[in-house]
Amino acid sequence: MTDYSNEPDFREIPFSEHGIARSHISNAALKVTDALQNAGYKAYVVGGGPRDLLLKRAPKDFDIGTSATPEQVRKVFPRARLIGRRFRLAHVRFGREIIEVATFRGTSDDGDRSVAGSGRVLRDNVFGNEAEDAIRRDFTINALMYDPSNQTLRDYTNGYHDIQQRCLRLIGDPEERYREDPVRMLRAIRFKTKLDLKIDSATDQPIREMAECLVNIPAARLLDELLKLMMGGAAWPTFQALVEYELWESLFPGLIRQPETPPALVEHALKNTDQRVRNDQPVTPGFLFAALFWPALQLEMQNNKAQRPIMDQLAYAAERVFSRYTNNVSIHRRFSTMAKEIWMMQPRFERRRGKRAMRLLGEKRFRAAYDFLLLRVHEEPELADSIDWWTRVQDVAEEERRAMVFGHSKPKHQQPRKRTSSKQSKPGKDHPLPASSQQS
Ligand code: ATP
Ligand code: MG
Repeated sequence: MTDYSNEPDFREIPFSEHGIARSHISNAALKVTDALQNAGYKAYVVGGGPRDLLLKRAPKDFDIGTSATPEQVRKVFPRARLIGRRFRLAHVRFGREIIEVATFRGTSDDGDRSVAGSGRVLRDNVFGNEAEDAIRRDFTINALMYDPSNQTLRDYTNGYHDIQQRCLRLIGDPEERYREDPVRMLRAIRFKTKLDLKIDSATDQPIREMAECLVNIPAARLLDELLKLMMGGAAWPTFQALVEYELWESLFPGLIRQPETPPALVEHALKNTDQRVRNDQPVTPGFLFAALFWPALQLEMQNNKAQRPIMDQLAYAAERVFSRYTNNVSIHRRFSTMAKEIWMMQPRFERRRGKRAMRLLGEKRFRAAYDFLLLRVHEEPELADSIDWWTRVQDVAEEERRAMVFGHSKPKHQQPRKRTSSKQSKPGKDHPLPASSQQS
């Protein structure tokens, strides 16, 4: 590993130039840097905090880098929790805010560091000095250190300049840095799309060739990264970039047949997710996986047209697609369970009358399943009728809802239904809507 100590490019940037004031940092983070500095250690706000402030965005959180070891951090903050194995860290809690405090890390080859045959770093707990810590970080824009005590920025990698240029550049030799940790390729896509940056050509160029290194990353870590990629408000551009950089196929080989032009349902699901994030509405990975895996589910259903009830076919196909396409990225069971629930409710929308329809309306997942039905219309325009009805039945008052579902307001006196043979073949057509909802 290259020795970067005695970095010649160090620059201290004053407040008058960068404009980040102490007051832009959270009180909790300031308490940590103040207390550590008072105890004689170096302590700075590092990583995404200063970066986002310079880009005029609200930072998600403020991480601290310090010369104190985790044990020394705990002497200053006895309630700090020491966590992590791959990287040891201290967490200091202030009410609901948790401040992550990481000891400066070095790049030397001795100490508690473990590297796989491929060059991938498995564990990295070699402590180092401040300059080494800046240089072991991934991108130059992520390596700035902000000192709240004098409001200066400490820049070892020319990151300040790159932020001005909106340029995403890996520190050091790109191929070597991707080999050490292939997840940096995903991080490159995340920062490019989330922060609207241009990837420097030397940082950009090796990605396609090295994309398949991702398959060696533990599947649970890839899920974490994938969720950060997809839940950050830029799922659609991120998906397109992942495909363009050939990373998508390393995550989910074969899941989507032509990912360059994905099915409309997938595109709309990703765009809706972004819209919801912008509106501060909740988004759930289970819903997103329901959409991403839906095309594969459809193929599986077509290839397995057994003479079984539709619900059994669905359950079987769902198991198959989740086991087939989650070798590289592990999908947490609570997400796949939600996806299956959403799928299994889809056939139930075909029945708009009687107790079953009423029961569907009361299901815990009704809203998610209904939102999914809305997505399906992009590929199945014949669903429009049914969607109108299900939209309306949610909006109307109790009395009218009963009338829509049971034909009149009192279920007790429900008329025996006529069963017609057209029922299965023409979902939605067999139950005439009340006159008031037939206008559209
Ligand atoms: P976000 O705002 O999304 O949290 P972030 O830059 O803070 O972005 P984190 O994953 O929280 O990202 O990481 C904090 C910092 O740790 C990064 O800014 C970077 O300096 C360093 N870092 C994180 N992951 C890596 C990595 N794989 N290789 C090198 N440095 C990393
Ligand atoms: Mg962060």
